[in-house]
Amino acid sequence: MHEWAIAMSVVSSVEKWALERNAKVKKVLLSIPSLSMLEVEILREAFNVIKKDSKIADAELEVIVRDQNFSCRACGNKFTLKDIRSQLEPILRDFGEENPLHVVPALITTFAKCPKCSSHDFEVDSSIKVEAVEI
Ligand SMILES: [Zn+2]
Repeated sequence: MHEWAIAMSVVSSVEKWALERNAKVKKVLLSIPSLSMLEVEILREAFNVIKKDSKIADAELEVIVRDQNFSCRACGNKFTLKDIRSQLEPILRDFGEENPLHVVPALITTFAKCPKCSSHDFEVDSSIKVEAVEI
């Protein structure tokens, strides 16, 4: 049900933005990190239901899945899922689609480390961003 809470906050923030500018919103472009576990279809469905009672009832939601970013708390290195893919291969091979990372993305810090300094203390970017609003 996380999707509904997100859709609700996207609708209300874009609605506020549109009211301030007296703009008619045609499209909202949202980006989510690839490890977010969010179901894009549920997100869109939730958006479509919630928007009906708002000032952006005609807006369409487009969701893009962006490359998962990490940032190391030990050395400040920034890296992406691609950079640590090889470290995760054993676990993906053993568990396939049912791998624990799919269920609990935060576990990635247990299985992977910073490619630069080998620390397991890195931050997983989980921000949901409104990238653009088309009017
Ligand atoms: Zn590091």
